[in-house]
Amino acid sequence: MAITGNTQTAIAPQSQLLQSLEEFMAMLEAEIQIADEHHLVAVLIMSLQRSDRLQALLSSQYSGIVRAHFYDSLKASLRAKDRFVFASENECWFILPQLSSEALAVLACHRLLSALSTPLKIESHTVFFQPEIGIACATLHAQNAQDLMRIADQAHKNAQLNNTRFELASIRRDQRTSPDDLPRAIQQVLDENALEMRYQPKVDLRSKSIKSVEALVRWPTNHAQSVATNLLIDTAEQYGLIEQLTMQVVNKVLQQAAEWQSLGLQVVVWINLSARLLAFEQLPKVLERSLKVWNLPASAVGLEVTESAFIHDIEHTTALLFELKNLGFRLSIDDFGTGYSSLAYLRRFPIDELKIDRVFVQGMISSQQDKQIVQSIIGLAHNFGLSVVAEGVEQENTLNALRLMGCDEIQGYYFAQPMLGDALPSWCEAFNRESAERF
Ligand code: C2E
Ligand code: MG
Ligand code: MG
Repeated sequence: MAITGNTQTAIAPQSQLLQSLEEFMAMLEAEIQIADEHHLVAVLIMSLQRSDRLQALLSSQYSGIVRAHFYDSLKASLRAKDRFVFASENECWFILPQLSSEALAVLACHRLLSALSTPLKIESHTVFFQPEIGIACATLHAQNAQDLMRIADQAHKNAQLNNTRFELASIRRDQRTSPDDLPRAIQQVLDENALEMRYQPKVDLRSKSIKSVEALVRWPTNHAQSVATNLLIDTAEQYGLIEQLTMQVVNKVLQQAAEWQSLGLQVVVWINLSARLLAFEQLPKVLERSLKVWNLPASAVGLEVTESAFIHDIEHTTALLFELKNLGFRLSIDDFGTGYSSLAYLRRFPIDELKIDRVFVQGMISSQQDKQIVQSIIGLAHNFGLSVVAEGVEQENTLNALRLMGCDEIQGYYFAQPMLGDALPSWCEAFNRESAERF
């Protein structure tokens, strides 16, 4: 590829190219949150081996041309949903979301290497690139963005050291509990009643106050291994441990709710129920018993059920939901929009609320299609007299757009990360005090 003349070649802002490392890390974190063993997210760290000539070019007036050349080569090798950022003049980071296996990350890596094998001609110079790439995948190698970058960086260093143009991180036993021993580890944690809870506020846009919070389970922080919540839940479901897990969660959450009440904090606490739990005959009784123990009304508790729960055994699900509703629990459909959304559900089930999946919420600023999905879910919910919550709100512009669309409640890092139960009363107090000025 020959580029001559204009050294000011500007790169048009494109959706694949991110503008800052902060944006990159935030996006990576968001992708990791929705990754699982069938939908991996790969991170690639690519550097160019320094040669004197390249170095001279990069630090000179030619850096714009080099970047533009990179940009064109990279763009052609990536899918529309892949993202990358220039971390420095000779380092580029990539996010490849939703891969069904790590082999696809290696394939993408080959494509990038092949695209960059074409030398760049700038005036009378010919520059050869010698890229080296380190690859790591969530959920295989790590469960959060920082750890994943650290592991990809190590793989990248190994590629440099071993002179192998790329290297895929290997799975070390201390990085992840293997599927064989995870069920046993979960059983032990359950036997020790050691699961932890965090609570994330849902901000009511009309009153600018906190009327409810979502309870989110966490693997014990002092445990030798770390296990992401999604992996914990999936494994517990798979190995028949989800009933025991849920009962423990319910008990911890209601104890916490009783404590908040004694401190004068009035919030509805929402608990996530796995789809499998809807087949658990004892569910209403167990919940009722727990309410009695902690002396709480059912109206203080909401139950979030994902859309996928509704497609199995509709008759049974309908009957169970009516039973829970008649007991006084509030009901919400979680991750709405990702499953088999159908108007029929909304008419059929006694639900109070829809939660828009964060995939759409996070996409709505850059994607017109996502924005339309969000807008139509809000319209749909309101037509049926339901309240709408948007989850995963991280940025002010998303919040403002949702407010204009008439969304009722907002949940996300923009306002707060999930926090310890003890921290909630003072957080709510400060929030209510300052909310008038904040938004
Ligand atoms: P969910 O119910 O959709 O919960 C929302 C998830 O989004 C939580 O992840 C929360 O930490 C995360 N989140 C909240 N705000 C933001 C944001 O602004 N940006 C991003 N990127 N993420 C945000 P978490 O805690 O890892 O939970 C994952 C899923 O695991 C939950 O998704 C829920 O389906 C399940 N889960 C969590 N706790 C329980 C539980 O006690 N029982 C059951 N059955 N499932 C649970
Ligand atoms: Mg939820
Ligand atoms: Mg959700």
